[in-house]
Amino acid sequence: MNCFYHPESSAVGICKYCGRGVCANCLSVTDDVLACKNRHEDEVHELEQLTARNLFQAKRVGSNYMRNAIFYGLVSVAFIGFGWWTLQWLGLQAVLFIALGVFLLYAAGANYFEGRKYK
Ligand SMILES: [Zn+2]
Ligand SMILES: [Zn+2]
Repeated sequence: MNCFYHPESSAVGICKYCGRGVCANCLSVTDDVLACKNRHEDEVHELEQLTARNLFQAKRVGSNYMRNAIFYGLVSVAFIGFGWWTLQWLGLQAVLFIALGVFLLYAAGANYFEGRKYK
């Protein structure tokens, strides 16, 4: 690939904003990313600011917590249900299942409340 602005020189990088190849003379490094010199430096800078915004990060983390909460919740219900159902046959072993289920329920709750913080 050659430079978009100088077809005679070969490109050394790609502008993050416009996606065009740029040669060493047209290349500018803004916030550790490449941009067309004197053309898209500001745009790339804004783009980086946008993706670096904490809100974005927090939202992703929050949804991870929610997914964990649902997963733990489902597994805990399965454990408690299984323990409850087999209590009359398994005795103490079933109690262990229920205890594990309660622990997972606690983990689900903790994840749920942690996730709500990011809303
Ligand atoms: Zn550009
Ligand atoms: Zn060039």
